[in-house]
Amino acid sequence: MLHVNPARVSLAALAAAHAATMAAPAPAVLFTPISRNAKTGPIPVSTTDRGSCPSACPFQGSGCYADAGPLGYLWSSMTSAGPNGTAKNGRGKLYTTDWAGYCASVAALPEGQLWRANQAGDLPHVGGRIYAPMLEALVAANDGKRGFTYTHHVPGLGDNAELIRAANAAGFTINLSGNNPAHADTLADLGIAPVVTVLPAGQLENTATPAGRKIVVCPAVVRDGVSCATCGLCARLRDVIVGFPAHGASKRKADAIAAA
Ligand code: SF4
Repeated sequence: MLHVNPARVSLAALAAAHAATMAAPAPAVLFTPISRNAKTGPIPVSTTDRGSCPSACPFQGSGCYADAGPLGYLWSSMTSAGPNGTAKNGRGKLYTTDWAGYCASVAALPEGQLWRANQAGDLPHVGGRIYAPMLEALVAANDGKRGFTYTHHVPGLGDNAELIRAANAAGFTINLSGNNPAHADTLADLGIAPVVTVLPAGQLENTATPAGRKIVVCPAVVRDGVSCATCGLCARLRDVIVGFPAHGASKRKADAIAAA
């Protein structure tokens, strides 16, 4: 079982340091109390605007699963609305919030609630450095809940590794997103967080990384009737790597990165 060392964490100290030296980003967030996404199932999910994604992510504009279809449309709409904005969403409207409003919604969730941060988007950052005050607020709001998310932020940049470690130790599960199984090995070697990876589109059986770590294909992809609401694997601190076969409208581009 992955053990994240709580002794090395100091979210509050990093938050104070960032607040003193960095200009705060102002992302728009859409909080959906009950998702209608079949893969997540009916759990709360959030979406953070496109600016939250790091430029280091190789899928940005090139194979990102969230770029196309209804999710891509929603992501673009909420991004253009800005924080505390309104935008068209199909025949209806969507209403975004700012970070404080988002954290208030998370804090109001029932004890033990499983929820997913960022069905699209990533953690707010400044030039690729995760902005600690916002992460600290979200981790505090998640206290007693079972929030989980994924990040493509580079662990080696700024305080990212320590922040990711600290959030995991405090109960908000941040999975490191591998571009392919070899990259997943590199991320797992850090020992700061659970890891997921993109897999080639045809890889629907459990497999292993080059270093021999077990990869479990996301059961929502290969089994009917399974969703995050019934699975919850990504919310757990674990050694096993979760694999997502490349999918979405840009599957071919993602497939090329996953097979590298
Ligand atoms: S492994 Fe489970 S929790 Fe993770 S994305 Fe798949 S269904 Fe959701």
